[in-house]
Amino acid sequence: MKGRLISASPTGRLNLMQQNITNSAHKTNSKAVPLWQKILAESYKDPLALLAALGLKPDDLDHPADSRSSFAFRVPAPFVERMEPGNPQDPLLLQVLSSVTENLPAPGFSLDPVGELAQEPWGGLLQKYQGRVLITATGACAVHCRYCFRRHFPYNDLALKHHQWAGTLNRIAADGEIEEVILSGGDPFTLSDQQLAGLIEGLAKIDHLQTLRIHTRTPVAIPQRVTRGLVQALRAWPKKLVIVVHINHPAEIDQALDKALKRLTQVADHLFNQAVLLASVNDDLTSLTGLSKKLFHCQVLPYYLHMLDPVQGSAHFLVSDSRARELIRGLRDCLPGYLVPKLVREVAGGSSKEPL
Ligand SMILES: *Cc1c(COP(=O)(O)O)cnc(C)c1O
Ligand code: SF4
Repeated sequence: MKGRLISASPTGRLNLMQQNITNSAHKTNSKAVPLWQKILAESYKDPLALLAALGLKPDDLDHPADSRSSFAFRVPAPFVERMEPGNPQDPLLLQVLSSVTENLPAPGFSLDPVGELAQEPWGGLLQKYQGRVLITATGACAVHCRYCFRRHFPYNDLALKHHQWAGTLNRIAADGEIEEVILSGGDPFTLSDQQLAGLIEGLAKIDHLQTLRIHTRTPVAIPQRVTRGLVQALRAWPKKLVIVVHINHPAEIDQALDKALKRLTQVADHLFNQAVLLASVNDDLTSLTGLSKKLFHCQVLPYYLHMLDPVQGSAHFLVSDSRARELIRGLRDCLPGYLVPKLVREVAGGSSKEPL
């Protein structure tokens, strides 16, 4: 999608509308750029522009925003529309706002907290657990979450590149013990429908694969991504399809996302959610019960509630083990069992995610 993208502008919605008008006027000269790609290109790239759009002044924050982080700032407009203007503690804002606290040293927080680099991924392939292999299908994401454990991941070197696809597929085809392929990233739904369909068609030729799983946050960041074309591309997979979305707070679920998720149920056999337990964002019973109930309403079941991976720059999101256990007990007391997520942590070298 590079090259065809309209250049970035920090001013958000108004500009996007102008682009739409301009674009439909010039539709004849090239293939139309899908709306979601325009929204992605128009993402906020500077925290100060986002604060201004929310009617906030830099002084309203507890800690100054950081415009020059090595992990770029990126937030698309539809995600911003779910934030509460004037609220510096908004749980969506806190997930994406780059802050100078990220630069403070924090003992125990490292560049590669879950030992992915030690695995020497090749052609985007990463296998840590028996029977399932993960493909880093792309390095790109629709939104940059400040707590992300892959925030220092050298995607340019390690994500799957187009010329490696055949080799990657051959490696999976050669290992009959692999039953499930997980497309992850980055975020696989930032690939174009054509790229995704191509990858899925290749995987569909491998007989011993039973399940395709896709880990994505793009529908949450940009619900407009879930187009008929995307659903069509996913239909190239003939067996079990599992989609795991990533939503941390009930305020992330609005009507547009509800609609996008319902559309995904047309093609996915199962829709699950994984969330990360984040201080000041969702480390309270009201947020977590609200999240489970809203997910259920959208036909999504909670899967994992992850403990924060101790990645450098994320220490201000840490929730203690004892508080996490207390919250899960609280959830068990007031929700049906199928709405209680599994509280887990990823341990480098472990043979599965580790329950707490
Ligand atoms: C988390 C993860 C998986 C999936 O684990 P499940 O417990 O099956 O959800 C697979 N591979 C890698 C490398 C992972 O990090
Ligand atoms: S969308 Fe997922 S992979 Fe991308 S920055 Fe957020 S948490 Fe990380």
